[in-house]
Amino acid sequence: MNRNAGPKPAFLHPYLSHSMKQVYFTAGPAELYPTVYAHLQEAMDRQIGSISHRSAQFRSIYQFCAEQLRALMSIPETHGIFFTGSASEVWERVLLNCVEHESFHLINGSFSKKFCEYATAVHKYTHKQEKPFGEGFDYGEVEVPEYAELIAVTQNETSSGVQMRTVDIHKLKRSNGRKLMAVDIVSSAPYPDLDFSLIDSAFFSVQKAFGLPAGLGVWIANEKCLEKAELLRHGDQTIGAHNSLPLLWKNFKNYETPATPNVLLIYLLGKIAEDFNRIGVETIRKETEEKAKSLYKFIENHPLFEPFVKEERHRSRTVVVATTKKPSSEIIAKVKESGMVIGSGYGQFKDSQIRIANFPATSAGQVGRLIDVLGKL
Ligand SMILES: *Cc1c(COP(=O)(O)O)cnc(C)c1O
Repeated sequence: MNRNAGPKPAFLHPYLSHSMKQVYFTAGPAELYPTVYAHLQEAMDRQIGSISHRSAQFRSIYQFCAEQLRALMSIPETHGIFFTGSASEVWERVLLNCVEHESFHLINGSFSKKFCEYATAVHKYTHKQEKPFGEGFDYGEVEVPEYAELIAVTQNETSSGVQMRTVDIHKLKRSNGRKLMAVDIVSSAPYPDLDFSLIDSAFFSVQKAFGLPAGLGVWIANEKCLEKAELLRHGDQTIGAHNSLPLLWKNFKNYETPATPNVLLIYLLGKIAEDFNRIGVETIRKETEEKAKSLYKFIENHPLFEPFVKEERHRSRTVVVATTKKPSSEIIAKVKESGMVIGSGYGQFKDSQIRIANFPATSAGQVGRLIDVLGKL
């Protein structure tokens, strides 16, 4: 670009006009899925940003998105699919609508900890079982308190790169059939194959593995969650005014939302889910596993890196965390020179770890290139 060609148009802010495009291996916001650009253009052509959320056009957008997500994640008709502002909003909704007094939290990192803090903030009595940062849970060691009404599990901890395997999550629910279970799959969906004949509720947001811009949360909840919310609504507790489950469900029956939703992102999510369905969720899962395997193999063998999560079964397949032998800021800066953005460690691990998102938006070829660049450090 000729820098002397007069003032730039206002929308070309200097920070945005760098000509070099980066590949984002950050855990969210993340690299956009390659088809987003075309879908966004189509959405603009169809004037999606101006249509009424009480129109037949919107209802068909909602229905399409819900149907694509059902197919992709095998979500049965017993579960409603609702839209919120974010996944952290869902933390609060689950707690207000599905817990009268006591919730139980498996804490395997910073996000699960925040989920638990939300419970305290909305005046629930919280039980927790906590692991040191970088360690994960197995079914056998979990001790569920008798009076807990809800078990809150974070399947993929974005902060520490720890996963809880779905087999363990399913066993936990099977042995606690009368308690509700809510699973945070924010930074892994649609990778984990949750069995929704067991799981009462799960949620995610779109700026992680679905490769979309941020601004939409998705809440999946079954009739048992609704029954609980109805029960609480008529008791002493508040279930809140905004996006309460009975209200969401009533609107959902008509493929509508209580308030004006992010119509554009609902449209785009439906399109991305359709793209994923065309590829096939099994293929997406297999590719995720293969890319994860090559990333872990690399950090296990390179002298500069070490996998942070020691137990192979607890290693996240979608967010790979490595401890670095020199300040991670130097590594991140070097990688950036090659047109790739990787994340720093979370919180106190900011400068001693790197985090690499392994989402469907980044291909095996791109992951291979990242490994090449890291290997030359
Ligand atoms: C990002 C994230 C959240 C919060 O999602 P928001 O969209 O920022 O509300 C919750 N849980 C996990 C595991 C996450 O990675």
